[in-house]
Amino acid sequence: MKYTSTRDLSVSIDSAQAIVNGLSPDGGLYVPQTFPKLTREDFDALCEMDYPERAAKVMSLYLTDFTYDELLSYTRQAYSRFYGDPCPLVNIDDGLYVLELWHGPTCAFKDMALTMLPHLLTAARRKVGEKDKSLIMVATSGDTGKAALEGFRDVDGTDIIVFYPTGGVSDMQKRQMMTQEGANVCVCAIEGNFDDTQNAVKAIFADQEMGKLLHERGFKLCSANSINWGRLVPQIAYYVSAYCDLLSEGKIEWGDKVDFCVPSGNFGNILASYYAMRMGLPVNKLICASNVNNVLTDFFTTGTYDTRREFHKTISPSMDILISSNLERLLFEISDRNDKLIAERMQALKKEGRYTITKSEFNRLAALFEVGYTSDEDTKAAIDASMEVYGYLMDTHTAVAYNVWCEYNNACPDDVCPAVIVSTANAFKFAGDVYNALTGNKKERDAFDDCKNLASFTGEEIPEPIAALKDKAIRFDEVIDRDAIAGKVLEFADSLSGRE
Ligand SMILES: *Cc1c(COP(=O)(O)O)cnc(C)c1O
Repeated sequence: MKYTSTRDLSVSIDSAQAIVNGLSPDGGLYVPQTFPKLTREDFDALCEMDYPERAAKVMSLYLTDFTYDELLSYTRQAYSRFYGDPCPLVNIDDGLYVLELWHGPTCAFKDMALTMLPHLLTAARRKVGEKDKSLIMVATSGDTGKAALEGFRDVDGTDIIVFYPTGGVSDMQKRQMMTQEGANVCVCAIEGNFDDTQNAVKAIFADQEMGKLLHERGFKLCSANSINWGRLVPQIAYYVSAYCDLLSEGKIEWGDKVDFCVPSGNFGNILASYYAMRMGLPVNKLICASNVNNVLTDFFTTGTYDTRREFHKTISPSMDILISSNLERLLFEISDRNDKLIAERMQALKKEGRYTITKSEFNRLAALFEVGYTSDEDTKAAIDASMEVYGYLMDTHTAVAYNVWCEYNNACPDDVCPAVIVSTANAFKFAGDVYNALTGNKKERDAFDDCKNLASFTGEEIPEPIAALKDKAIRFDEVIDRDAIAGKVLEFADSLSGRE
């Protein structure tokens, strides 16, 4: 299987090279040249497997320059870091399921891919003969930074440095990063907001002089965000796995269609469900759920993607995003892989902040996708309702999706397909807002007190990785100016190579 670029069809490279490169030099995203197919026999075999085997099997169809055994050894290592089943499917009501993707080391769905990416990247570097060590650099507004740190900590051949805006992440997220363990990690807070941090980090990626200085020290910069194919491909597996669970438990027959409702930001998670559908997964509707940063809802209802709007801070912060990078991969498919057209539209997005798709593209999307968005107030009501009706505790992001699914279900009573709500974070990661939704009580000053309150109110246990943070020493408390980021990266590289 070869990979091409959404903006240049003449590109044709192996998956290992696509993973090492991250982004295509033309600015496009790497996509598989074809979609491998899963047959009924494949599903029968997958049903007999455990999750690491299922994930290795699905990925092996895309990563043909890796062997199945290689991939299986990575999935075994990655998912052994989870607490119990990596992605259990919980039946909360007749025909209604929650796919819990947050049983990993940082309690968010990013772990599903970011525990795998280090293994894929290390092997990919070996396959393409990359001699420099990979220095992963991340600008984060919350979940990605911590999941990347946990994924890459103490992985041979890689080091990681993470920057976050000092006032722009939640208390628990900050605590998670400041206490990060591992000999190859560095975390630094930036004076400024997320855009400042992100722009400063992007400038370093683009700076050739920095590239040279790092190369002299034996490092090559690398990105761990969701435009990398190595982050997307592990996500396809859990959609296939959820279907296998429904089959194994006798809830559906082979061929029965299922709805998936996904809380979306950068559009990576829901894109993986689309890829699974293209492989032959029987899907009825893909429901894209947003918070009030509803640029995707508007796009799917009008055909125009328009970022010229106010940015809102919400209680589902991991979805506070106006540019959903992975949408480019979907546009590529529904335009019949028209690379020139995609390049033009992405140019328009950059210059004018908007673009419009054609009527026939719009109709294709409308046949498969449903959309909706949820305000903070309705998110809280949904958390409360889920607890009340099903005794099921949801985080703020999952509740956005649950509310959108309820609205869809009321509007379309004829759709009787089983529905899977994709759950992207553990409720204790956003304990203050969840507790507030359930009781009306205000958030505490200390995020651990919110956790205690939520635990005693619901009778649920605080997950181990969050409870353990309380006793962990603060390792990284430096706050620097954004102009100092490049110097910090070089200082970290020097300390790693013992050149200080
Ligand atoms: C990242 C994230 C999302 C959004 O996922 P995308 O793949 O960016 O659409 C939703 N919920 C949580 C908790 C997240 O961390």
